Amino acid sequence: MTTESKPLQQTGITQADLKDLLDMSHEILGNLTLDNLMQKSIDKIVEKCGLLGGILFQVENDHINAKTIAGEKGVQKFLKLIREPLSNLKISINTDLNNYVVNCIVKKQDQFSYDLYDFTRGVLNQKISKIAKILTGTQACIAFPITYRGKAVGAIFFSKSVKEDFSKEMHILKFAADLLGIAITNANLYKDLENSNNDLKQALDTVNELRRQEKDMIDVMGHELKTPITAVQAILEVMDKSYKQKGTIDSDKLGKYLTLALESTKKEVALIRTLLSATRVEYRRFEINHEELNLLDILELSINSHKEMLSKQNLKIKYRRPHGDFIINTDKSRLNEIIDNLISNAIKYTPKGYIEITASENSKEVCFSVKDTGIGIAKEDLNDLGKKFFRVKSSNYNKDFVRPSGTGLGLYVVFNLVKMLKGNLQIESEIGKGTKFSVTLPKNLDYLSK
Ligand code: ADP
Repeated sequence: MTTESKPLQQTGITQADLKDLLDMSHEILGNLTLDNLMQKSIDKIVEKCGLLGGILFQVENDHINAKTIAGEKGVQKFLKLIREPLSNLKISINTDLNNYVVNCIVKKQDQFSYDLYDFTRGVLNQKISKIAKILTGTQACIAFPITYRGKAVGAIFFSKSVKEDFSKEMHILKFAADLLGIAITNANLYKDLENSNNDLKQALDTVNELRRQEKDMIDVMGHELKTPITAVQAILEVMDKSYKQKGTIDSDKLGKYLTLALESTKKEVALIRTLLSATRVEYRRFEINHEELNLLDILELSINSHKEMLSKQNLKIKYRRPHGDFIINTDKSRLNEIIDNLISNAIKYTPKGYIEITASENSKEVCFSVKDTGIGIAKEDLNDLGKKFFRVKSSNYNKDFVRPSGTGLGLYVVFNLVKMLKGNLQIESEIGKGTKFSVTLPKNLDYLSK
């Protein structure tokens, strides 16, 4: 059944009614937070019109959701009876249901009935609806569509404890429904605006974080690159001075100077290599060259090039070359870089003990691991390994271990190179016991990339 609103004169709007309308407009339009707006509006309407209760629904995709409920004791009894939170009251927008709340939205016209079940059909069964009617004392109900520019955004349901129609309240309720259409649309727009503001803020935070990282990188790289080259300069200055003064350099010192200068130069070259690789990895400026090589030769080459570093730190190396050749078709210099990085890290972060290298193969893959008895990595730091510039904080190390200098780029390069060679990297670590990096690579990269 549908009730039409009467002309204003006939409805006998009084000054008090007008004041109520104004009051309600303030309440409804003065809110930009959706939940707040819906609750306050429905409370105000029920209070001003002296109704039994009210429920506000919002259209969400193909159904309508109950959002807020208002009213005195009846409301609590109703909620107790249905034993579910209000938000579980969802009605599918399907006219076959002949649910009056749905109908008011589809027909865009208010729907009136003395029977509560007309509004709960499809959500509560007839028996529960009857109990609800008795418990709450519901005698008459009405539902209004909430529309904005012809589009239904929700619905409001009201009930009365007197068996009569809503013609007395019709003008106020219709007016309130119209206001709600505007207010809900505004609140949704405001929410979207806030969300996009948040997105912008997040994007700005990311840019600032990247800027900060870039600045950190320039600071770190500046310092890291300066150290070895400054050492070379100092050595050359000593040699130069000696040569100028004596016309010669003491032969016993010459060897020492050369070794020191060479070590520092190697450090500088390794740093530049890591920096260049990190940039290439980041901008995907890598060409993968394929060639057939023996993994065991590459491992041995890298172990030998670290002998000096190992003996300087008094570390043993454990490596037993397996029989045969582990032939792999991949990029030699990238593989070399992965192994070099892992071995030099193992040495760097191992104050005492040994480094153990193993290798194995199956028909499709080769695998090698670099294990150390070093300081280990805490569980909470493992997830961050491989992120650009990530270094375990010095405060996370124990007092006896001074964090060596570094850039936090080595593992970033390793992680990315392993990915580019279609391999897999696993890390096991225990604080104070050591770390094991295991790399598995496909034997034939050519085959995989086809
Ligand atoms: P760097 O050594 O220059 O700091 P890396 O990217 O090579 O940078 O390593 C990142 C961080 O991972 C290191 O700073 C260190 O905290 C941790 N790490 C890497 N390898 C090991 C290892 N073998 N044992 C303990 N910690 C390690």
